[in-house]
Amino acid sequence: MRMESSVTELKGIGAKTEKLLNRIGVYTIQDILLYFPRDYIRYKAPVPPGAVLAEGVYAVTARVAGMPLLKHARGMDLVQAKAADETGAVECVWFRAAYVRSLLKAGQTYIFYGKAKQKGRGFCMEQPEIFTPAQYLEKQKTLQPVYARTEGLSNTVLVRTIRQALERIPLAYEFLPEPIRTEEKMCEYNFALRQIHFPDSIEHLAIARKRLVFDEFFLFILNVQRQKEQRTKLANDFPVQNETVIPYLLSHLPYRLTRAQKECLDEVICDLKRDTVMQRLIQGDVGSGKTVVAFLCMALMGENGYQSALMAPTEVLARQHYETFLKMCTDFKLDRKVVLLTGSLTARERRRAYEDMQLYPDAMVIGTQALIQEKAVFSNLALVVTDEQHRFGVRQRETLAEKGRFPHILVMSATPIPRTLAIIIYGDMDISVIDEVPAKRLPNKNCVVGTSYRRTAYEFIRKEVQKGHQAYVICPLVEQSEELEAENVTDYTKKLKEYYGEDIRVCCLNGKMKPAEKNRIMEEFAGGRIDVLVSTTVVEVGVNVPNATVMMVENAERFGLAQLHQLRGRVGRGEAQSYCIMVDHAQSKGSKQRLAILNRSNDGFLIAGEDLKLRGPGDFFGIRQSGDLAFALADVYQDADVLKRAAEAAGRLLEEDPALVREENRRIRELLCGEAERMSL
Ligand code: ADP
Ligand code: MG
Repeated sequence: MRMESSVTELKGIGAKTEKLLNRIGVYTIQDILLYFPRDYIRYKAPVPPGAVLAEGVYAVTARVAGMPLLKHARGMDLVQAKAADETGAVECVWFRAAYVRSLLKAGQTYIFYGKAKQKGRGFCMEQPEIFTPAQYLEKQKTLQPVYARTEGLSNTVLVRTIRQALERIPLAYEFLPEPIRTEEKMCEYNFALRQIHFPDSIEHLAIARKRLVFDEFFLFILNVQRQKEQRTKLANDFPVQNETVIPYLLSHLPYRLTRAQKECLDEVICDLKRDTVMQRLIQGDVGSGKTVVAFLCMALMGENGYQSALMAPTEVLARQHYETFLKMCTDFKLDRKVVLLTGSLTARERRRAYEDMQLYPDAMVIGTQALIQEKAVFSNLALVVTDEQHRFGVRQRETLAEKGRFPHILVMSATPIPRTLAIIIYGDMDISVIDEVPAKRLPNKNCVVGTSYRRTAYEFIRKEVQKGHQAYVICPLVEQSEELEAENVTDYTKKLKEYYGEDIRVCCLNGKMKPAEKNRIMEEFAGGRIDVLVSTTVVEVGVNVPNATVMMVENAERFGLAQLHQLRGRVGRGEAQSYCIMVDHAQSKGSKQRLAILNRSNDGFLIAGEDLKLRGPGDFFGIRQSGDLAFALADVYQDADVLKRAAEAAGRLLEEDPALVREENRRIRELLCGEAERMSL
């Protein structure tokens, strides 16, 4: 079996499972091995039978009372045993497993691990795993992977499949040149792959993760660097002759641009008039007003007879930008074609969009990834803007750029990365920073509370809704999960609907819904026909509903601070006072300390920095500072040191072998090409 072999070559992967795996982007053995856990759990501390007071997963330590019984019921063998001590007893059963009888000795102590269900007045564990106390002690050192799943695909199936893949592949090729690996004290690639899935210990996990994070950064930076070399100093084919539209629009905007917006706009216009093509990143905190800057630049292109494109990471956001642009064009009597192109358009709408892109050489085109699909042909593309860039790979940006004759590139990001890191990650670009938010806005009021505060929060939301405002409630999960104890939007929506009754319109939104469904709900929310939107983090990027004034986040302890900050940026966008209520379920010292940072500050840069200081190495479970940069494992904040080292190593490598032609670098070259292909789908 090779890395490129299909997953169907593994045992137990039928057509149905294959389909489910495809849905999470897994086709080959390599894909599944690179499908990293999103969390880990430990085997629980053992408890006596008397401590089993509610249904749930337990490790029960107890003696086997008497001989296990072999029974026949409903046509199958069934072994029954009683695990007991002086605190109480729990019944255990195993189906079709007569051999279990020979494993258990009467009077001996074991640990039974599994789910306890209510049965009569007591509890019963079905099919628990059996360990001796010594075995269990070893087990407790290991960490069990928890994978992000899709409906119908259980964690158990993923664990089994990955375990099998790891056993059956030959050793993977070590692509990192030996000198780099030694210098950076990185573990072997195969060791890293095994340990990231099934860590023997937390120490090994940390070592494995460091290696894989290094790889991710290293390849990413090599890509950026190579692109930079290939694309510098391209001639600007799109001379700007006419700038009058800018002062015209500025005088018609319902507000004045902030100083920072103005400076940024000037920098961009200056770039557009240069001899060479622009490549610029605009970094600005949430709510700093990046969209209008993009609009002005695109309007300028249109005025000069050129097309421009704005690419957003989600349908919801693309549609919202489209509506905003249309409205501005109408309000300002700007006669310009605005085209929407997303994945959920009907065949007819899409054909229309393609036609418009041919018919209007000065159109403003707004869309999602659909923009970079093969069939989307621009007739005169001069400027490409990507919004919330961190969601896209460098390669996607490039692919869109290739649709024109080397158009200008403008990237907008709200991720507050310190300048030193931004220079590495956006190595091929100039950087502008919008470092202030419009003055009229009131800063959000924040609070961190425990779950007992919920009623108060619900009543507070009711009052806001009565004043005509709206609210978001965020939960980490889509539906109930066996492994993770956290709120899910499905049950939460039901609960809130019951709580509020007819008075308040509650609706659910999550990433698993069909794009058209998500669009409809987001439009209803934006139109004020939904009062409370219970959602997963799909609303995190970019959406703008200025009438929403409350952001309530359940299980706030499970989110990275930068992510919480993004979420909170969804409110406080209008003139009314807005509020962010973070519900901390853990109430641990650590979570309190972290959330207190958010509570104190509304400044994205400061928050990311402070958060970093609080967390030590190896402290990376469940929480990713920003789940949104285009990396699978790496986190620019938390892994800032590794990022810097990877950048240096990449620099050294390119200095010695700029085209990566040496034999020992062959595999790296292949990987870079593979990556390029994968991302340009
Ligand atoms: P972000 O930078 O997060 O993308 P947006 O561009 O969505 O922010 O802007 C947030 C809100 O602020 C929008 O409703 C927009 O109309 C408004 N806005 C933008 N610039 C200004 C300004 N200079 N003064 C007042 N409001 C502004
Ligand atoms: Mg935005």
